[in-house]
Amino acid sequence: MHVLSHVDLRWSTSNGVAMAHVPDLGAGRVLFAIFTRLGGVSEAPFHWLNMSYSVGDDPTAVAANRGLAISAVGARPSQVCFVALQHGNLATIVTYPRPLPPADAVATAAPGLIFAMTFADCLPIFFVDERVPAVALAHAGWRGSVGRVAVAAWRAMQSLGATAQTTRVYLGPGIRGCCYPVGAEVAEAVVEMGLSDGSCLLTRNGQAYLDLAVLNGLLLEEQGLNVLDTAICTACRRDIFFSHRAEGGRTGRFCIFAGIL
Ligand SMILES: [Zn+2]
Repeated sequence: MHVLSHVDLRWSTSNGVAMAHVPDLGAGRVLFAIFTRLGGVSEAPFHWLNMSYSVGDDPTAVAANRGLAISAVGARPSQVCFVALQHGNLATIVTYPRPLPPADAVATAAPGLIFAMTFADCLPIFFVDERVPAVALAHAGWRGSVGRVAVAAWRAMQSLGATAQTTRVYLGPGIRGCCYPVGAEVAEAVVEMGLSDGSCLLTRNGQAYLDLAVLNGLLLEEQGLNVLDTAICTACRRDIFFSHRAEGGRTGRFCIFAGIL
């Protein structure tokens, strides 16, 4: 099994909203906030801090949740751009707040712009080069992972001046090999990627399991990047995060905010 370097998260609560940060990030210049499902006003099955309008939750509750999260990080609503996901491998560079095109990875070097992306099992990938400074945030489900959305995000960072020596990459809470059974179609697509190490695909009792963190970590390490893993499985930790699979498809989405302040 390929072993990724681990990062311990720091947890905090503001406005009743629980969130996690990575330590030693940007001396207050870089925002990378991983919200949880804790805090917020949504009712089951979207309890509590559901940040998505597209899962069937009461829109009034979602608006209230977004307001709580935005004020919990001290941001203004006009700074925060919610990214419409494509579930593919589209990366885009953003220099102004709106309109933001649909994308699976966004990168910016513009201060004051905060990306918001929602998740429930797909792997969040955050890039930061504090020297530029520039950040990127990507969303990698199995399709995006196979389509190398992580590398597309890295190319966008490079075009903003980021280098592998000065960039750190963090893998956020997503579904892991412990909890993600996949069918033959997905397993074959992963095999066809021709990775140098096949340990993102596991087999237990004849069933294939995919580890999105190991897959994306390998892709990024092949680019010479320093990858740090939060090692949180959303399906194992649905007490804290939402898990689309472990909750039968009826659940909310937690959010990640990323930007340069
Ligand atoms: Zn798990």
